[in-house]
Parts: sequence; C-alpha cells; structure tokens
Amino acid sequence: MISVKNLHKRFGNLVVLDGINIEVKQGEVVAIIGPSGSGKSTLLRCLNLLETPDQGEIEIGSARINAEKFSGKEAHLLRQQTAMVFQNYNLFKNKTALQNITESLVIAKKMKKEAASQIALDLLKQVGLVDKKDNYPVTLSGGQQQRVGIARALAVDPHAILFDEPTSALDPELVAEVLQVIRYIAKKNTTMIIVTHEMAFAKEVADKIIFMADGHIVEQGTPAQIFEQSVNPRTKQFLQQLG
Ligand code: ATP
Ligand code: MG
Repeated sequence: MISVKNLHKRFGNLVVLDGINIEVKQGEVVAIIGPSGSGKSTLLRCLNLLETPDQGEIEIGSARINAEKFSGKEAHLLRQQTAMVFQNYNLFKNKTALQNITESLVIAKKMKKEAASQIALDLLKQVGLVDKKDNYPVTLSGGQQQRVGIARALAVDPHAILFDEPTSALDPELVAEVLQVIRYIAKKNTTMIIVTHEMAFAKEVADKIIFMADGHIVEQGTPAQIFEQSVNPRTKQFLQQLG
C-alpha cells in the first residue's frame, strides 16, 4: 500500500509538486503519464527520498514519514520499502549481471554469498538472462541491461517497485522484451508505479492511470476512463498530441 498526502516539492522558486495525493493498493499497478517537466520523476524520487519533499506525508508498507519532520531511522525504513528502475539502467559497470543483483542482498540484507547467488540466478532465469550471468553491462544490450535492472529491483523483495520510464532509452526493437518482463511482474501481484510514455502499454498493464501536469494530478481513473472517456480538456489535449 502506498499513500501520499498533500506532497509539495519546490526547487528554488519553481514549484514542481503542488499538493499531490495518491493511493495505491497492495498489488495495484499505477501508471503516471504527463508532459515533460510535469514532476513525474520528482514525485517518484520523493517516494524513496532521493529528493526530500518540503511538505506532506508518505506511507509505504510499514513505513511512514511526515516531510517536515522525520528521523534518519524513519527515512531508512521508507527507503527500504521500494526499489527503483531507472531509465538509464544504472548498473554497476565493474560488476557482472549476477553480481549486480547479489550486491544489495549481501550488503543491505546481510545475506551469505551463496544464498544471494541462488536468488540472483532464479531472478535472471525469470527475466530470461541466465546465460548472461557472467557478462559485464558493456557486453549487454540496453534491453538486457534493463532486465538485469529489473531483476535487481525484485531481489530485495520491496513493498513496491518504482519505474521511471524504463523503456525510453531503448532502441525500439528492444522495448518489447522489457515490457514483457514488466507485464510478467505485474501479473504476480507486485505493487508498482510506472512513469511511462508508452500509452498502449499503460493502458494494458495498469489498473489506474494518473495524468499529471504542472505539478498537479489533473485526473486519475481506470485506463478506459482516462484514454477513452475523459472530458478533461488537458487530458484530451495531451493524448491528442501523442496521436
Ligand atoms: P520528463 O517527462 O521530461 O522526464 P518529468 O515529469 O519527469 O519530465 P521532472 O524531472 O520531475 O519532470 O522535473 C519537473 C521540473 O523540476 C522540471 O521543470 C525540472 O527542470 C525541475 N527539476 C527537476 N529536478 C531538479 C533539480 N534537481 N533542480 C532544479 N530543478 C529540477
Ligand atoms: Mg522524468
């Protein structure tokens, strides 16, 4: 479960999040869409405190913080609830596919190397990359790197996975394999928030669509409500521009 209440964030004078409210149920898949600069990435980054929000409340799984006063311990607990999949994979370049996954298990979860390797191998199998376990990131395609990134996010067994445009850096022919992996995870009842420009995918995989513009949630609803039945002029304009 994710609950965001009245979240505010500004960079200097620029208001980037202006009172965001979101509820995501356990196992729900939420897609966030909206124009460039509308605050989608900042919102995700506030959820794991990669950015510090100025005001509001965030509750994820067993952790909860009030942006205006929280302890280091509360911050640590909140960060542990989510794993993030970035646009540019962010894999450790000097580690193999397998080591990229075992790293956080050994360090953050204090797991023994063998046990961590077992989990990593199983996850590599799930994302179809067991034969690449000893490859370094430079020897993997973008799609393969992103699948390792997703396996790494799954490894720590987070309460929710946050995806920030997981396919937008990929060559078009590599997008499908990554979407396939995300689709597969979604079916396993994983709570996910996905920022995406892939509207057809959002429509297919998400239980709920959130349309953001200028730091606000303009509209949210089921894929049908947003993509087919919306009467909101901003939503309609945004979707029309995409063609
Ligand atoms: P895109 O679709 O292009 O990824 P977005 O919706 O993810 O856009 P954000 O990256 O959240 O948008 O940025 C929202 C606004 O905040 C933008 O105007 C951006 O320039 C600004 N911004 C983001 N990060 C910072 C920062 N660290 N310092 C100053 N301004 C920032
Ligand atoms: Mg972004």
